[in-house]
Amino acid sequence: MAAVSIKGVQKYFGTTHVIRGVDVEIADGEFTVLVGPSGCGKSTLLRMIAGLEEIGQGEISIGGKVINTMQPKERDIAMVFQNYALYPHMKVRDNMAFSMLLAKRSKAEIAERVAKAAGILGLTELLDRYPRQLSGGQRQRVAMGRCIVRDPQVFLFDEPLSNLDAKLRVAMRTELKELHQRLRTTSIYVTHDQIEAMTMADQIVVMHDGIVEQRGRPLELYDNPANIFVAGFIGSPA
Ligand code: ADP
Ligand code: MG
Repeated sequence: MAAVSIKGVQKYFGTTHVIRGVDVEIADGEFTVLVGPSGCGKSTLLRMIAGLEEIGQGEISIGGKVINTMQPKERDIAMVFQNYALYPHMKVRDNMAFSMLLAKRSKAEIAERVAKAAGILGLTELLDRYPRQLSGGQRQRVAMGRCIVRDPQVFLFDEPLSNLDAKLRVAMRTELKELHQRLRTTSIYVTHDQIEAMTMADQIVVMHDGIVEQRGRPLELYDNPANIFVAGFIGSPA
C-alpha cells in the first residue's frame, strides 16, 4: 500500500484549470520531490494534501485512508513553509511545542518531545532564544522541529530553502537529506530547483502546466526523459 496516493486529482480556480489530472503514488519512507516551473501547480497540489485547499476532483489517501473530507488537523501530516512562519513573540521551545499544546498533550510529553527533536536538530542550546535571535538556517531548523515533534506520517515541504542564501541552501539540503535518512518519514518536497530535485529525491515528479510529465528515480529521468520538456528541465540547470 502506498503511503500517499493521489488519484485523478483536478483543481479549478474560477475557470482556470490549474491541476488537470494528477496521479502519483508515494511509497512509505520515500522522499519525493515535486519539481516544475513556477506556476505549474506544485503548491496547489501540496496544499490540497495538507487540507489548505479543497480537493476539486479525484481522491487523495494517506496510509490507505481517503482524506478528502478531513479537516487539516485530522490529517497525519506536518508542513514546512518557505517563510518558516515562526511565531516571533515565542521562544524556540514554545514555537516547537505550540501544535502539541493545541492537541492537548500533557506537559511532560511535550517537554520530552521538544527535547528529543531539539537534540536531533542541534537546537538544544537555542531553546530559550526568540526567532529574531537566530540565523536563517537555525530558523529553518526550528520550523523542521515543529514538524518533528508531532511525529506525523507525512512531511510536506513547500520550497523550504528558497529564502536562504546559496551557500546555506546547499548545506541545508544535506542536512535535510540526513534528517530524512534518520527519521525515514515519508516526505513530499516542492521545489523549482532541478539540482535540489536531483540531489535530494528518491522519486522525482516533474510537473508542468497542471499535469505530471514524468515520475521516476532521478537517474531514470536523466537517462530516459519521457519528452522534450523533461529533457530540457532536468538536463539543463536553471
Ligand atoms: P507553483 O507552486 O508551481 O508555483 P501554484 O500552485 O502556486 O504554482 O499555482 C498554480 C496556478 O494557480 C498559478 O497560475 C497561480 O496563479 C494559480 N493560483 C494559485 N492559487 C490561486 C488562488 N488561490 N486563486 C486563483 N489562482 C490561484
Ligand atoms: Mg509554489
